[in-house]
Amino acid sequence: MKKIGLIGGMSWESSMVYYELINLKVRELLGGFHSASCVMESVDFAEIEKLQHDNDWDELGNIMGRAAENLEKSGANVVVLCTNTMHLLSDQIKEKISVPFLHIAESTGKNILKKRINKVALLGTKFTMEKDFYKKILLDDFNIEVIIPENKDRRIIHDIIYKELVQGKLNDNSRKLMIKIIKKLENNGAKGVILGCTEIPLLIKQKDVDIPVFDTTKIHAEDAVSFAFGQ
Ligand code: GLU
Repeated sequence: MKKIGLIGGMSWESSMVYYELINLKVRELLGGFHSASCVMESVDFAEIEKLQHDNDWDELGNIMGRAAENLEKSGANVVVLCTNTMHLLSDQIKEKISVPFLHIAESTGKNILKKRINKVALLGTKFTMEKDFYKKILLDDFNIEVIIPENKDRRIIHDIIYKELVQGKLNDNSRKLMIKIIKKLENNGAKGVILGCTEIPLLIKQKDVDIPVFDTTKIHAEDAVSFAFGQ
């Protein structure tokens, strides 16, 4: 089993889920007393959130690059970044390491294709929904068309993420709002919905919506385990 390196803390609410899912998968595969070989470099999200909203992506790139370097020094054989948004900085991370970087949009794209779906909605922070780094991989590498919520709905989702989910708050009204937004996207042709923020699966479950849900935290965590076993 290879050693998995995790860049966590964005937020720790979802990093905790990564750790649990990775270990559950290893138990499922190996049984007995087995657990994952892994290491986490966890950052202070207050610093990250401020730099994101100040648009200081250069400094964020430096921080992510250093975290990845530290993981490699700790013996990690692969780097897994436990947030969708910060994949905006994939290039800055990759140039600092010689081990593979497991991109969350690629793991998600593979999973969507398995379900033979070619048009999905993407929910996430405004950075993930509005910038190109995520949608481009799905379109160029997997031929999956991506639609995003309208402007006011993007604002609602972004606020739910930063004012509630990353602070460990699960609000029933926010769940209802998000379900309504997903319904609108379904009516606009989405055949599935990507929960493209690692905290959204804490709020929205498959049972809440009619179309297939792609839980990026679970998909990415399980892909990390597949990598660890050389699959
Ligand atoms: N965890 C979130 C994501 O998957 C948002 C927090 C962050 O900005 O990294 O995008």
